[in-house]
Amino acid sequence: MGWRRNGHKPALVGMAGPPTLWARKLEKVCGARGFGVFQRRDFCVTPTSAQEVMLTCERYAVQRLPFAEVSEQDLAFFERVLPGRVSTDPHELKAVNIDWLKMVRGCSKVLLKPKTTSEVSQILRYCNERNLAVSPQGGNTGMVGGSVPVFDEIVLSTALMNQVLSFNAISGTLVCQAGCVLEQLSQYVEERDFIMPLDLGAKGSCHIGGNVATNAGGLRLLRYGSLRGTVLGLEVVLADGLVLDCLTSLRKDNTGYDLKQLFMGSEGTLGIITAVSILCSQKPKVVNVAFLGCPGFSEVLQTFSTCKGMLGEILSAFEFMDDRCMQLVESHLRLSSPIKENPFYVLIETSGSDARHDEEKLTNFLERVMDSGLVTDGTVATDNTKIKMLWALRERITEALSCDGYVYKYDISLPVEKLYDLVLDIRSRLGESAKSVVGYGHLGEPRGRLHLGGRPQLPGCWRPSPVAVGRQQRSVAPNRPARRRTSSATASPPRPSCSCSASRPCWTPGAS
Ligand SMILES: Cc1cc2nc3c(=O)[nH]c(=O)nc-3n(C[C@H](O)[C@H](O)[C@H](O)COP(=O)(O)OP(=O)(O)OC[C@H]3O[C@@H](n4cnc5c(N)ncnc54)[C@H](O)[C@@H]3O)c2cc1C
Repeated sequence: MGWRRNGHKPALVGMAGPPTLWARKLEKVCGARGFGVFQRRDFCVTPTSAQEVMLTCERYAVQRLPFAEVSEQDLAFFERVLPGRVSTDPHELKAVNIDWLKMVRGCSKVLLKPKTTSEVSQILRYCNERNLAVSPQGGNTGMVGGSVPVFDEIVLSTALMNQVLSFNAISGTLVCQAGCVLEQLSQYVEERDFIMPLDLGAKGSCHIGGNVATNAGGLRLLRYGSLRGTVLGLEVVLADGLVLDCLTSLRKDNTGYDLKQLFMGSEGTLGIITAVSILCSQKPKVVNVAFLGCPGFSEVLQTFSTCKGMLGEILSAFEFMDDRCMQLVESHLRLSSPIKENPFYVLIETSGSDARHDEEKLTNFLERVMDSGLVTDGTVATDNTKIKMLWALRERITEALSCDGYVYKYDISLPVEKLYDLVLDIRSRLGESAKSVVGYGHLGEPRGRLHLGGRPQLPGCWRPSPVAVGRQQRSVAPNRPARRRTSSATASPPRPSCSCSASRPCWTPGAS
């Protein structure tokens, strides 16, 4: 028992090894060659092929709406607007047709890569007139299947809209195109002594436009608030090609309606976000990260309360994960826990401006929680490399889950005191039909955020929720029904019938 400053064991941050036993088992059962994630920077790679992911339109009873099909003339028009940036290459299209979790697959035959707002506007105006459906895509890291087409919608990627337009080093206002990768923006502003107000595990791939379109929360929400407060302005191209310029950089703007708010969380249903103005905060001078082990969830909650009381103004993140999460990151990503095995782990980050002051506060807090038995072991890191290693244990859980096989993931807001009951209830309800049901997330949000991940023991029994993917075809064209996200505790989709031959009753994610 004890806590160590910078006492992190060396960890191997690496790619996944050979397919897991589970993947091999699936190979036998399904004739598949493994389930995993796309080959992306930061994420592990598991052998996979698009053929393993069933087409969304075959899996679900969804009807293609009466859109036109892309013709040779359409392709010629796109090529005139975007010379050399129209792809019909099946290899390139394979990647943009499947979502990050490999739950859904579309069959788009055209990928468009505009670089400017004017190009997006010309494309959307043309598609609107031709009645062609369009599916906007950022980094394709979304967890609810919204970034990929359902049928043959044209994929409009913001990947080449990746320019910083301006940065004001006094106010911290960054104006950039929507396709800038979050991690690259972070590096850009950090070099100028600022930080982005959001950070998430998908930062190496997700785009700022995608973050705004999904109203992403992430690891810094506790300290810097939601995007609804930090996004100052947006530029959006509507379905008919009209450019809506709300790209203000004013922090206070009380001139009438705040139209940009409509597009935050609209997930591509109302228009394509082409540029974002966002308020960055001054980079903290001192950052400390403590990684602690707790004997139970009640101790996690009491540690959180104590932490808020004693660290108050310097607290910037409070994350928790259960022991099964730790086992998964250890076995699939070869990361190692810096402390002994515990039922729960918490990661606490403080950000301030005075090293001595912050250290004193943190030390007092650690002594309190250890003396009272809330925490049984821990380590503290102050240098950047070790801080990153500790954060990796929490940030890469989603990736570890994907490496473990076919995964279903919910992102649920609940009152913090009830957060972990859900994991226990689902574990007992699923019994042996799920290999793992794990809980981890941001305790720092006002209601607590639980990432509930599960992996089926019986692949045939595990069905994506119909609310998630049984949606109508989505596009930016008008009169399309907006899609609901699965990531809501209030979503209670009907339980679909199961046609597998398992002897025990099957559970379906989303069934209450
Ligand atoms: C490892 C990992 C960790 C994550 N952690 C968090 C987390 O902590 N908190 C959280 O909230 N989310 C988290 N997410 C999910 C998160 O919502 C997405 O990663 C991110 O915000 C989506 O950005 P993207 O560029 O990848 O968008 P995509 O996945 O490409 O698209 C998402 C949706 O937005 C639409 N869209 C994309 N770009 C635009 C645009 N320019 N204009 C209009 N619509 C657009 C798409 O049509 C789609 O509906 C995580 C995902 C991963 C893989």
